[in-house]
Amino acid sequence: MTGAGVSAESGVPTFRDAQTGLWSRFNAEELASPQGFERDPGLVWRWYMWRLGQLEEAAPNPGHGALAELARLCESFLLVTQNVDSLHEQAGSADVLHLHGSLFEFRCAACAAPHHLTEGERGADSPPACGLCGDLVRPDVVWFGESLPWDAVGDAAAAAHRCEAVLVVGTSGLVYPASQLPLIARQAGATVIDVNPEPGPISAVADIFLQGKSGEILPDLARAVADLRTGG
Ligand code: NAD
Repeated sequence: MTGAGVSAESGVPTFRDAQTGLWSRFNAEELASPQGFERDPGLVWRWYMWRLGQLEEAAPNPGHGALAELARLCESFLLVTQNVDSLHEQAGSADVLHLHGSLFEFRCAACAAPHHLTEGERGADSPPACGLCGDLVRPDVVWFGESLPWDAVGDAAAAAHRCEAVLVVGTSGLVYPASQLPLIARQAGATVIDVNPEPGPISAVADIFLQGKSGEILPDLARAVADLRTGG
């Protein structure tokens, strides 16, 4: 299971880092909640377009690559991410379960019809109108206070119940319900491994805490698993 930290070395800021510079005056709830969007759709739109621009310049880092490699090495492997970027897919991971949606997809805030963004709309100061109902278009991501896609959560929880090990990478463990997945896995008898430069709620319950950057630790881990596989 991955969070924003796995993309930090690709230059994509984590939520904490994204609150710097231009956007430091605002808190995450103001910029990523239905209430914030209702209050000031233009502000939220501009923040998301800024983030989209950053993502387009980002490339996968060795941590993303190692996770794609681990999937090839393991008999069964499910990648669950809270990230809204597409760096796992770009690194070659297949079947990524996105718990929080994608920054590259848009939908109507009222009728949920998908919306294909034009270049002009991207550069605009406020969100476009839905072609079907005329309401505002929003990013197709899960905001604070919103429910997660139930099918993705169900699949992730089922995997947590039956897995032998869960590798938790670059997540603060503060965002519910993703934060519960390692706990479900641990209760079901799995080994929990946390990879993060900072200790936090997940490392506190993990069986193994690998302290450091995922771009440095995960390639070593993938190499060790490859050696085990080949008896090296
Ligand atoms: P978070 O910002 O709350 O926490 C990031 C975690 O990553 C922290 O624990 C930090 O110590 C760790 N970290 C920082 N650099 C790291 C590195 N090099 N290697 C490994 N770990 C590192 O992020 P979260 O837990 O994912 O949850 C917050 C929400 O933010 C999620 O809902 C997510 O959708 C959203 N978000 C996504 C992206 C993205 O898609 N790339 C970026 C920012 C925020």
